[in-house]
Amino acid sequence: MESFDVIVCGGGAAGIGAAVGAAQSGARVALLERYGFLGGAATNSQVLSYCGFYQCDARGDRAIGGVGYQVLLELAKLGEEIQPRRSELTGNRIILLDPEKLKYTLDQLVLSHRVELFLHTTVVDVKKQGDHLEAIDLVGLFQQRSLSGRAFVDATGNGQLARFTGLPCSLNLQEQTLQSMSLPIRLGGLAKDLTIDREAIKMAVELYNRRAVYQIPRQDGGVFMRVPNSNDWLWMIVDLGLDDVQEELVTKAEWMGRKIAHDCVEVLRAEVGGFENCHIVNTGPQIGIREAWRPEAQYTLKREDLASGRKFDSGIARAAWPMEDHSKPGKPSYHPIGGAGYGLIPLESLSTKIPNLWLAGRTIGADAAAYGSIRVMGTSFATGQAAGVAAALFAQQDEPPQSHQVIEDLKAQDALV
Ligand SMILES: Cc1cc2nc3c(=O)[nH]c(=O)nc-3n(C[C@H](O)[C@H](O)[C@H](O)COP(=O)(O)OP(=O)(O)OC[C@H]3O[C@@H](n4cnc5c(N)ncnc54)[C@H](O)[C@@H]3O)c2cc1C
Repeated sequence: MESFDVIVCGGGAAGIGAAVGAAQSGARVALLERYGFLGGAATNSQVLSYCGFYQCDARGDRAIGGVGYQVLLELAKLGEEIQPRRSELTGNRIILLDPEKLKYTLDQLVLSHRVELFLHTTVVDVKKQGDHLEAIDLVGLFQQRSLSGRAFVDATGNGQLARFTGLPCSLNLQEQTLQSMSLPIRLGGLAKDLTIDREAIKMAVELYNRRAVYQIPRQDGGVFMRVPNSNDWLWMIVDLGLDDVQEELVTKAEWMGRKIAHDCVEVLRAEVGGFENCHIVNTGPQIGIREAWRPEAQYTLKREDLASGRKFDSGIARAAWPMEDHSKPGKPSYHPIGGAGYGLIPLESLSTKIPNLWLAGRTIGADAAAYGSIRVMGTSFATGQAAGVAAALFAQQDEPPQSHQVIEDLKAQDALV
């Protein structure tokens, strides 16, 4: 069986942070991703804006360095705008993404760090030796196999690796529902100089709701963002609740989301000036799932920690995005980060009862409110990088590293802690 120092499962922001972070700490790294491209929700669910890179207070300082910032600098070399924009709706700072340039950039970045990349590869089971994780079982496009590792990072977003290990996993059900799912719709056939008439869109959504079986809770007309390097717009209007993690529920949400998108775009075409020729360019490949299994970490980051901008001594990454609540489909609400505009995420929110397994990205330990902040992609790069560094140190010394060792390595890798 082929063997690695660090095996990272999941190729989203967290997995890329983890893989490059571990490689920069000297580890031989395998990065596994079930789709044929990297990027996670950005590229598989059209979440085309990075949040969390910059504080959302008046200062607007950058909160993320290291691997996440390397990604931005590589995008800038391709001519992309990486300066944050302030959202007209929320005042929050975001960076817009071109999905194809992002996929290309991420490939090149991980390969340049000699990370061994396995695309079209799904983790389906694990092997344990005592309380340690020893190997993982994979299904690829053409074969099944196992890889052994000294240390592992769960960056699957849904906590799948942790769940296979038997680590306790829970669902953060708020009022019987997880953070809602959304199906971003990419619209084409629009004029280059189109301006969004929000009142007309709002009226079109009202009209849709009067006729439709499946209602749209975003009555404000939703969020529109122009897709960089195109005349297309991304429309965030379809939200669907999720109250359990079952394939049947996600299947229903996929077809229902596409039906709503189709019918709603028909109303736009008929009712809103400038949208006469618009059509759906893309949804998917999958509906955006904000929240699923939450594996048990050694510390659960809390609302109060972020509301007060708490600085843990073992802090390994900055959480600067406001706590964003999507517990009810429809308009999200935002709750600010206190203190200096960011809170520190402690290493203990990434470590688990399994001594050689770390959590990264949206799988880390956080209560329902703190989760609304730490899950965004800028922050996921940072928690991923810390998990990768911790895993690489474990592979060298065969025992969990102290937080000061992880922090030193992260600083040497230009991460902001
Ligand atoms: C609709 C929606 C809108 C959002 N809006 C924003 C936004 O504007 N900006 C922002 O920054 N964040 C946004 N978020 C949150 C953000 O996208 C996620 O929380 C973030 O992507 C988390 O990063 P991650 O790397 O932890 O997980 P993911 O991006 O989910 O990546 C996990 C990766 O693991 C892979 N994977 C899963 N299981 C396996 C397996 N068994 N084997 C192999 N690979 C596997 C997946 O294919 C995926 O590529 C939004 C999320 C949604 C759903």
